[in-house]
Amino acid sequence: MTITIHRGINQIGGCITEIASNNGSKILIDLGHNLPEGDNRDNDPLDKAENIDPILEGVNAIFYTHSHGDHVGFETYVAKKGIQQYIGTLSKALLIQLRENLLYNMERRKKWVKQEKINAMQASIDALNGFITFEPNKQVKIGDITITPYYVSHSAADSYMFLVECDGHTILHTGDFRDHGYRGKGLLPTIRTYIAHRKVDVLITEGTMLGRDDSRMISEETLCQQATELMQKYKYVFVMCTTQDADRILSIHNATKAQGRRMLVDGYQWTVLKKFEDTLGAGPMTRYRFPKKYCYHKHWDEVMNEDRNRGFTMLVRNNKRIRGHIDKIMEGLDKEQCCLVYSQFKGYIDPKHTAFMQSAYDFINAYDWHFEYLHTSGHASRETLTTVCNLVNPRLAIIPIHREAGSDFCSLNLSPELKSKVCIESATLEDVKIIIK
Ligand SMILES: [Zn+2]
Repeated sequence: MTITIHRGINQIGGCITEIASNNGSKILIDLGHNLPEGDNRDNDPLDKAENIDPILEGVNAIFYTHSHGDHVGFETYVAKKGIQQYIGTLSKALLIQLRENLLYNMERRKKWVKQEKINAMQASIDALNGFITFEPNKQVKIGDITITPYYVSHSAADSYMFLVECDGHTILHTGDFRDHGYRGKGLLPTIRTYIAHRKVDVLITEGTMLGRDDSRMISEETLCQQATELMQKYKYVFVMCTTQDADRILSIHNATKAQGRRMLVDGYQWTVLKKFEDTLGAGPMTRYRFPKKYCYHKHWDEVMNEDRNRGFTMLVRNNKRIRGHIDKIMEGLDKEQCCLVYSQFKGYIDPKHTAFMQSAYDFINAYDWHFEYLHTSGHASRETLTTVCNLVNPRLAIIPIHREAGSDFCSLNLSPELKSKVCIESATLEDVKIIIK
């Protein structure tokens, strides 16, 4: 068996892992774009077909851990090559919905958008419709490779780690994960019940937080509590967070509900929340319900009369249309009562950070509102990474990916034996070949 890390050993985002059996079956785990640097798309060499072709050579299937753009991004090109693509059911639906919303907006501005861009978006939707969905805990066989997805908590609502069996060896690829989301409590029981006893040979794990300060890492429950306190202080709360983070929006929703207010959303966000309710929210034990969501489209009179009197929470994004809505709803409101809660990675609005986005910075400073930062990461803390390594206790190697260059996995509190297994350079361990590019 050969494991190849094409990308991700020294960068966050854009990870590509290949697993090939001795008989020639081959899968990839994730194939997305590099994270953009600021407002510009990173000059991603894999955006060029001639660079991606060698990676796709002989690949039978691609498995996506979740729907973030640094994990899925070449669906159209891959589909043209006739390679099967697998993803979780909700991830597939969310990706299609996102692209359909983009297509809708392009068609509304048809005069100013190039036809080839419209065609590319439609082709992407067609490719996504061809994705095969997997189910948690159910094996998928690709030649002589067996892949079993297990649900993990992350800032994308439908995320998985993969247990891969090949040539008598077992690999655990964690994808992006955390244990402090609402369903994060399931992480260790899942590993204990389904994985630890399988004697994992190689653990491939994310290490995003190795190089970031995780001292402010709080649980979603605590974040919900802090959001509630903010809403007691401010009557009009605008929240900037990602549209597909079910946990974060639930925290904001429940804090809003506690004040007897409504959570105002645009049409796109409303359909995303509806999808969360129909999937994560199915069954009697679920917490993923959003009864206080309210779509303001076509209901402006009601919003202007009722919500402005009562107070509200409004989910916002940095685009022209939503800015128009903010202008309208904020007009004449007491600015002392208005607050923007920024609930995303702080690097985007920090001029000193490489991820700094001028447009996001301008947006948060465009209005006369109080600013509050309220966020917790979608990634595992150092403590959680340590616990997972100890629990999985891989026999041959730990390969850390999705981590900043220079961050040291051995700085975790691991036993000397486990530290000796951390592998960031190509090696052959027994009959497992590891190639790190
Ligand atoms: Zn992610």
